[in-house]
Amino acid sequence: MRIADPAAYLQSLRRLRRRVFLLGERIDDPVDHPLVRPSENALAQTYERGGETEAEELLFASSHLTGKPISRFTHIHQSAEDLVRKVDMQRLLGRRTATCFQRCVGMDGLNALYSVTYECDQVHGTEYHRRLRDYLAWVQEENLVVDGAMTDVKGDRGKRPGEQEDPDMFVRVVDRDSRGIVIRGAKAHQTGAINSHEILVMPTTAMREDEKEYAVCCAVAADSPGVTFILGRQPSDTRKREGAPLDVGNPYFGSQEALIVFDDVFVPRERVFMCGEHDQSGRVVERFAAYHRQSYGGCKVGVGDVLIGAALLAARLQGVERAGHVRDKLTEMIHLNETLYSCGIACSARGAPTDSGCWMVDVLLANVCKQNVTRFPFEIARLAQDIAGGLLVTMPSELDFRNPEISPYLEKYLKGAGDGSALERAGVLRFIENMTVGCGAAAYLTESMHGAGSPQAQRIVIFRQAGLEEKAELARRIMGMTDRRKDP
Ligand code: SF4
Ligand code: FE
Repeated sequence: MRIADPAAYLQSLRRLRRRVFLLGERIDDPVDHPLVRPSENALAQTYERGGETEAEELLFASSHLTGKPISRFTHIHQSAEDLVRKVDMQRLLGRRTATCFQRCVGMDGLNALYSVTYECDQVHGTEYHRRLRDYLAWVQEENLVVDGAMTDVKGDRGKRPGEQEDPDMFVRVVDRDSRGIVIRGAKAHQTGAINSHEILVMPTTAMREDEKEYAVCCAVAADSPGVTFILGRQPSDTRKREGAPLDVGNPYFGSQEALIVFDDVFVPRERVFMCGEHDQSGRVVERFAAYHRQSYGGCKVGVGDVLIGAALLAARLQGVERAGHVRDKLTEMIHLNETLYSCGIACSARGAPTDSGCWMVDVLLANVCKQNVTRFPFEIARLAQDIAGGLLVTMPSELDFRNPEISPYLEKYLKGAGDGSALERAGVLRFIENMTVGCGAAAYLTESMHGAGSPQAQRIVIFRQAGLEEKAELARRIMGMTDRRKDP
């Protein structure tokens, strides 16, 4: 693995010459920008071996292409056990960072494309699977970060890609020759986009015969000419440059999203994995979405573990740790969090092999997993705020604690229970603030709602996959409404 540790990863990003904008300005060095760096620190944890039991086993796998050790983030799942390990790896990294560590979208995209390119070649006689395997071998060897870019900007949501007034509302092929293709369009909400070496472009929905130009999958180097990254804002993000880390809550780790614009970007032929095979596009969407909905049953659970821990600390510092209602709230938080984990494990354990050899999660259970993720973290956050109390949002700044004129007041009047200092209490409350209304809430709450598809997207799959008619038949049979009923 060429990029072997966090320092080498940060160095590799510095070498990329990209076009990145933040707060209205072009930034030449996003790696060392105070608003961006926490997100790189979080992603860098995927390169950190760490000291946890099983960390090695979870973070690394054996390549099915070369037999060499590789990062699990570049691995193609070879068994149900691999799928379970993936979820456990994500929980572990959520526990390390308390945020989104951004590297799963590429893993989920590569796995989805692995089986779909195989099946596409069977139907169309194409050579996409061979190209993808070659690409994958390179990604594994170099240990690169791949951004799985699916969500188009979509324009008028009431219209299909081919019906939009502006045809660029979905990424499409605008030119092609024997050397490759040229793509145009934009992908929104791209998690970890500027912390990635590569962008794996995939269609956002199943395309029709007359929408072939939109049925495109390809890998684009992040510093290709024509690619622009426009970073999104997060609540209280500029606190990161106020010189008061305690006010940030989680100053070392964070998440990051961007709008990626492809302004006539050339993609070489060897990096094209679908181009016009519209009948295959729906499968890419379904499989990527299912893998990523599984992912949330790991990462958000790890983040939930940290929030539950912070709520316990807040209760302790306020002298209510033993109160019955506080214990009950902590119990409820644990129950909700472990329910999400159960879903992540269940859809993995029930996985099955595809014809390509890559293992796929149980689609129904993965969608149930993510549907729960659109709700439970909000309830966990509500309970954490309940335990924390209103000081969560009325606490003076770290800068006030540093002002000798008023700090004695703060230390006296905001002191915690027992030995707990006011500053310690402020730190815990700021941390809960970060995760429930600040920067961290972008990853823990809004991303739980909309990441990997908004709630309605899962409900559509759940309804379709549930086997409703079969359930009706079960009822009919027991009621004696069919001739299949047999006397014992
Ligand atoms: Fe990974 Fe979770 Fe972030 Fe998605 S939201 S990239 S699954 S950490
Ligand atoms: Fe996500």
